[in-house]
Amino acid sequence: MIRLITDAPEFFSDLGDVLRLFYGDVQVSLTEGETVFEHHFTGENGQWTDVWASQGQSASLSRPAPTGTDLELKRYRKRQVKGALYELLKKLTGMRPPWGSLTGIRPTRLLYEGMEAGLTLEEAVRRVETEFDVSADRAALLGDIARMQSGIREAAPDRFDLYIGIPFCKTRCSYCSFSAGEIGNGRLVKPYVDALLREIELSKALMEEKGMRLRAGYVGGGTPTAIPCDDLRRILKAAQAAFPGAVEWTVEAGRPDTIDEEKLRMLRDLGVGRISVNPQTFSDETLRRIGRAHTGQETIEAYHLARSLGFDDINMDIIAALPGEDVSDFAHTLDEIERLAPDSVTVHSLAIKRSSRLHEQLTVAGNGYGQVTRDGAAEMIALARRRLTAGGWRPYYLYRQKYMAGNLENVGYARPGKACLYNIGNMEETVSVLALGAGAITKWLFDRTLRIERAPNVHNIEEYIARVDEMVQRKREVVFSDKPGR
Ligand code: SF4
Repeated sequence: MIRLITDAPEFFSDLGDVLRLFYGDVQVSLTEGETVFEHHFTGENGQWTDVWASQGQSASLSRPAPTGTDLELKRYRKRQVKGALYELLKKLTGMRPPWGSLTGIRPTRLLYEGMEAGLTLEEAVRRVETEFDVSADRAALLGDIARMQSGIREAAPDRFDLYIGIPFCKTRCSYCSFSAGEIGNGRLVKPYVDALLREIELSKALMEEKGMRLRAGYVGGGTPTAIPCDDLRRILKAAQAAFPGAVEWTVEAGRPDTIDEEKLRMLRDLGVGRISVNPQTFSDETLRRIGRAHTGQETIEAYHLARSLGFDDINMDIIAALPGEDVSDFAHTLDEIERLAPDSVTVHSLAIKRSSRLHEQLTVAGNGYGQVTRDGAAEMIALARRRLTAGGWRPYYLYRQKYMAGNLENVGYARPGKACLYNIGNMEETVSVLALGAGAITKWLFDRTLRIERAPNVHNIEEYIARVDEMVQRKREVVFSDKPGR
């Protein structure tokens, strides 16, 4: 455990994130711990100076005290305190994380922040590189993404995106930290669908009152195709009737063992243009190991079935650094991706969250099959980027997660014209998202992203069913929070 003695305890959680860039999933405390990191701040003579010391080494950052609003000053303070700690950690470990001192999940935000301040794209890329010690390679990736997002990043102010969550899966994957669970005997499906239909109906009235229209719809999970075809049809039909005019509909068909011709025809006939068929890996051994009850061949068959029925916008998710895999296993997955040629590919770096079964298997129960090293994970991610860009896919959105293998990133790649609007809007927070279903979080933007308010639905499925009206009332309070008294 690491103990922090700091003049800036208000940034405790951010400082913990910086430590985890170097030491992985380490525990951090303000009161106890065998390794001590000590920080002092002075703000004299118009100069801000932060000094960190540990294990006989020290590092400091100093700058003229800036001016600005309270919020801006807090942001500058946080960056400097974190930056000084980052410098010390680099000294102590000899490491340089690929994303430098950045710990947030949306690095593109810093790029756009620079551009909004008047920098060109190239200048903003350089600023991210120099100010946050981001590697040239990652900074260039941000630049490529901004180019792909150009013209489609923002939605008209009277548009919103819709998320519908179906929190059921056939079986639970070992790396899943998702709170709901296996579909079991299906007893909750019907009541859940009924609750969802009620939430759709009540939310329709809310959006009409607000004068907002749908831009892009996204049905995720869980695995939406895990529920019976008729139930999924009812949900989609109700949503499309309540919120007409979407320019994009995506349904995650996720696990290939939940896909059949009847469901695909239903989706196609309802105008769902984009689906996800997710292999994660094409190694059957790994699939078994991570608890996915399908084979690589089943993924291939589901994909061909979707193509034969006319789907021309298919996404595939793959994961780098799955337990027990080496670079050659991952290269085999990329071989299959190239052969199948989906319209978009999302490359995830495995994130081992504490609530997942895999976390327990690897850390508590002992590790029988080997966790991929930082270098191994980085090699896989670099390989995916090289091969996918050489194959004509372009990076179009990116996000990072905590506990991610090698401190890397998740990147969505797409063929020209196949970038998913919902993914961009959701990741860049450039459009309000009305979110329905258990655990879904509505995010409402005010003043073009200067203020974002959230209205979370309860996670537990039974509670959601019992309290659906209250979930819509939560949304009402947020959506109309610019008009007190509603
Ligand atoms: S398919 Fe996705 S949501 Fe379902 S158990 Fe696996 S990782 Fe979790």
